[in-house]
Amino acid sequence: MNILKDNYGRKFSYLRLSVTDACNFRCKYCLPNGYKPHAKCGDRLEDTILKIHEIENLVFAFAELGFRKVRLTGGEPTLRNDIVDIVKRVSDIPGINTVALTTNGYRLHKIANALKQAGLTAINISVDSLDSNRFLEITGSRHAERVYQGVQSAINAGIKKIKINSVLLKSFIDNDLDTFLAFVSRTPISLRFIELMETADSKDFFSREYISGDSFREQLEAQGWSEIERDEHDGPAREFVHHNYIGRLGIISPYSKDFCTSCNRLRVSSRGKLRLCLLVMVNFHFENCCKVRLKEKS
Ligand code: SAM
Ligand code: SF4
Repeated sequence: MNILKDNYGRKFSYLRLSVTDACNFRCKYCLPNGYKPHAKCGDRLEDTILKIHEIENLVFAFAELGFRKVRLTGGEPTLRNDIVDIVKRVSDIPGINTVALTTNGYRLHKIANALKQAGLTAINISVDSLDSNRFLEITGSRHAERVYQGVQSAINAGIKKIKINSVLLKSFIDNDLDTFLAFVSRTPISLRFIELMETADSKDFFSREYISGDSFREQLEAQGWSEIERDEHDGPAREFVHHNYIGRLGIISPYSKDFCTSCNRLRVSSRGKLRLCLLVMVNFHFENCCKVRLKEKS
């Protein structure tokens, strides 16, 4: 079998494919000024992004190179009217055994069943607060209730793996952590905290809100959470369990020193450009990208 490897011995089997740059939210850490098309004047968005048959061809080629998992992301992938068909086409490709989606949950209450029928095996839903005012403050969206319904629809549809993503913010710990923990105590779900990454548009927000994954881990351990052992095929999240909770917690720390070592994914943008590193995609300083960090390690 073909296996794609790089010069650092990392094997790639997981493709993160952006299917659109467009988004209807204005998360303060991502698109604080809202989505602005980069298309040249006169270009329609649909003409600049990969079409469904191009997505199919591309994933087919990656599957031949040994890729087994595809995550559809964006922008907001469910804004594409053909998202259910994309899931179906990708899940029918020989060799692909996991089709995952990362979404802000806005359309999920309508399409969760159809996605499951089309072959979706995993979903990550981004929810930064369970309080609608805080939700509005962080995401710029008044549709918190709809997103919570979307989470319930994904559970009811029987999608195998459901995770909630929350960006780790100082204000989250002060305002939202307790309500999320109560939710995790009674729901068999994995709640994952993503360390805040600095982008060109969110420098002030970053300096107000950044807290390191390591210091949050220490807080969790002090409250009785214990880390579970990672398998060599596991992704970058460190997972934690607690005997009083049915669900789990995870921490994803892109700034931690070992983050790049276990990377097994490649990224393709909605225009079909190959990207090797998420940190380069979010305009993070190049000095911090994996190429340099791995060199330092060796
Ligand atoms: N729109 C979808 C969503 O929000 O789930 C998919 C795309 S979004 C870019 C994918 C994930 O990246 C989300 O969970 C979001 O919270 C996270 N994210 C975006 N910008 C980030 C940043 N600056 N730091 C940390 N996580 C970020
Ligand atoms: Fe949109 Fe997702 Fe970025 Fe929020 S994180 S602005 S929902 S792409």
